[in-house]
Amino acid sequence: MMILVVNAGSSSLKYQLINMEDESVLAKGNCDRIGIDGHISHKTFDGRTVDADVTFPTHTEAFMKLVEVLTTGDASVLKSMDEISAVGHRIVQGAEVFDRTTLVTDEVIQKIDDLQELAPVHNHPHALALWACKKVIPANVPQVVVFDTAFHQTMPAKAFMFGLPYEDYEKYSVRKYGFHGTSHRFVSAALAEAMGKDIKDLKIVSCHLGNGSSITAVDGGKSVDTSMGFTPLDGILMGTRTGAVDPSAVTFVANKHGFTPSEMSDYMNKKSGFLGISGISSDNRDITAAAQNGDKRAQLAREMLIYQIKKYIGAYAAAMNGLDAVLFTGGIGENSDDVRKEVCENMEFLGLKLDNAANDGVRGQLKKISAADSKVEAWIVPTNEELLIARDTLALVQGL
Ligand code: ADP
Repeated sequence: MMILVVNAGSSSLKYQLINMEDESVLAKGNCDRIGIDGHISHKTFDGRTVDADVTFPTHTEAFMKLVEVLTTGDASVLKSMDEISAVGHRIVQGAEVFDRTTLVTDEVIQKIDDLQELAPVHNHPHALALWACKKVIPANVPQVVVFDTAFHQTMPAKAFMFGLPYEDYEKYSVRKYGFHGTSHRFVSAALAEAMGKDIKDLKIVSCHLGNGSSITAVDGGKSVDTSMGFTPLDGILMGTRTGAVDPSAVTFVANKHGFTPSEMSDYMNKKSGFLGISGISSDNRDITAAAQNGDKRAQLAREMLIYQIKKYIGAYAAAMNGLDAVLFTGGIGENSDDVRKEVCENMEFLGLKLDNAANDGVRGQLKKISAADSKVEAWIVPTNEELLIARDTLALVQGL
């Protein structure tokens, strides 16, 4: 049972081929610079590689090359694409149309494309990739779509509505959707398993901290609130994104700079966050190093991050009327022991106490990091969105 997992952007097509017998990755890579020139980097489980410049005018040529490297040449891992049971695609925005993993039909691809206004950078390229995949992959191989937003469709209206006139929700679908749903679903389930508890009995705050960061309140296995909003800009300070800002500050700054709405959006998405506050970098490692060297603005960026994460943990504990565990995932959450430590400091009032020795120096492993007498547990839970997409895809096609 092999599942091909695809994560397509406007100019890239990342993929993993997963053997579902043991959930191991047989090969992974990226067809990059689609529509510009083209490059493929491909690596097999046993270290064979392809690194080549190729012409990729569209996603179709990228899929053709992907099929070629998987099935022929020195770094092939399949005899033919018929060995693949299904293809699972990551889709960013499913809005209220898709609340679960779905089998791809022409109508489904069209609906994903129709949502492009709600995710301009992502959904149209996803649709292009789905059409291309349909053209290139044998017709008997089912395709499945897994949505970043689907996990958050369980949020109640009181959590997902903005205080704008209700007609804007009805007419334009303006509301909080939340993102990173596949990651929050994967890590919260993995945590319940690690704790030996039924997820239905757990109240979890899931902190996915990377270049993009979001925090989700998971009550009984369901997302009840999340920090990202209408787009992945809301919530906490990120690499280059603002996180939450008073909307009046947005219109004020746009006026001062003479920005159009799309220039202002660019400013908030690409020039803000760690980068904007520090003036140094969007990368947590650079910010941490600069802060340690005494750079005041880098120190401020870190302090803002830690403070904002703490506030979400407190808020979501209140929203859920309790808290059993806080988990850290994503590039920062999995690797940055200092961020985890500072977030968990002075949280005894909430019943959360870190075991510093268990936390220090730990990177990318599933591990409990709270003290034995901590009422609320803290864990590092490495995320694996591709694996969850593969599991979902397999479960759906097995049920066909
Ligand atoms: P994305 O949101 O793009 O998937 P990642 O989840 O890969 O991003 O997270 C990237 C962030 O993780 C960067 O800010 C990076 O500095 C941070 N990071 C990665 N490795 C480490 C590490 N060893 N120590 C501290 N931070 C790290």
